[in-house]
Amino acid sequence: MRRFELALPRSVDDCLKTLAKRGADAKVVAGGTDLLPQLKNGLLRPAFVVDLSGVVLLRRLGVNRQGLRVGAAVTAREIELDPRIQKDYPALAESGALVGSIQIRNLATVGGNLCNAAPSADMAPPLLALEAEAVIAGPQGKRRVPLVDFFQGVRRTVLAPDELLVELVVPAPKARSGGNYLRHTPRRELDIAVVGVASQLTLSNGVCAKARIALAAVAPTPVRATAAEQALEGQPVTPEQIERAAELAVGAAQPISDQRGSAEFRRHLVRVLTRRTLTTALARAGH
Ligand SMILES: Cc1cc2nc3c(=O)[nH]c(=O)nc-3n(C[C@H](O)[C@H](O)[C@H](O)COP(=O)(O)OP(=O)(O)OC[C@H]3O[C@@H](n4cnc5c(N)ncnc54)[C@H](O)[C@@H]3O)c2cc1C
Repeated sequence: MRRFELALPRSVDDCLKTLAKRGADAKVVAGGTDLLPQLKNGLLRPAFVVDLSGVVLLRRLGVNRQGLRVGAAVTAREIELDPRIQKDYPALAESGALVGSIQIRNLATVGGNLCNAAPSADMAPPLLALEAEAVIAGPQGKRRVPLVDFFQGVRRTVLAPDELLVELVVPAPKARSGGNYLRHTPRRELDIAVVGVASQLTLSNGVCAKARIALAAVAPTPVRATAAEQALEGQPVTPEQIERAAELAVGAAQPISDQRGSAEFRRHLVRVLTRRTLTTALARAGH
């Protein structure tokens, strides 16, 4: 591993100043569970590392009637265990609970999960289905980017080298909403998703008022299954409609074949996990 200098800023402003000075030669580290292996295997060779662990603002987790604000350095373990997230944002709590092991989850942050931009990132699909926005700070101030526009490719996001993901803003789901996240892994523990699916439904007057379905590990970035969403909206959510949506969700996937599963197996998993997550989301919405 290349030797690097370490900065321990106490505020977002200090982070930004350091990043502005060091530019592309600097990398920020939150939990380090993605970054450290990449430093060790030589994939990244920054001369400067900015440690976010001392920036209290990034660790804030706030829930109110407007919704949820999750600081970028909130850990997967905190998300998994927060009773307010479990109650109103269950898909997000479920995704946090699936990351790595307890040791990993105590370090792994939501910001790291998103900024690392792996197609299989578990916390991305629920946040996409919940229509989260990313709050990004940079030299020109703050900007908000809908999460659906945040990912640009494998390990690529809209973040410039001198920008920092500060928090995620998640609007509160309306009454009679429910969500669910499921993934398939060949091993039960310490494996990454071969496919992950999050579904989020809102019901009104006996029909689906809003449907959001997001998929992981089937394209270069996490993606929404918009045709499936549109097929559900305005309709009663029957088993037949769910089956049709599951079929349509397959169309949003552009999976590859690799050692962890063939493209055909991944398409099959999209169908099965979409059906299961929609069924659970419907039950949670109080059908
Ligand atoms: C054994 C093991 C098991 C794992 N299992 C899973 C799993 O089941 N599911 C899953 O999704 N992931 C898994 N991971 C990957 C990893 O744990 C997660 O992606 C985790 O959420 C990364 O968070 P972190 O804080 O450790 O990120 P870090 O490693 O600190 O950072 C990751 C990247 O994001 C950047 N970054 C971090 N925070 C910010 C910020 N605020 N602004 C700008 N850039 C930032 C860093 O510069 C780096 O490029 C696993 C990793 C290991 C080692």
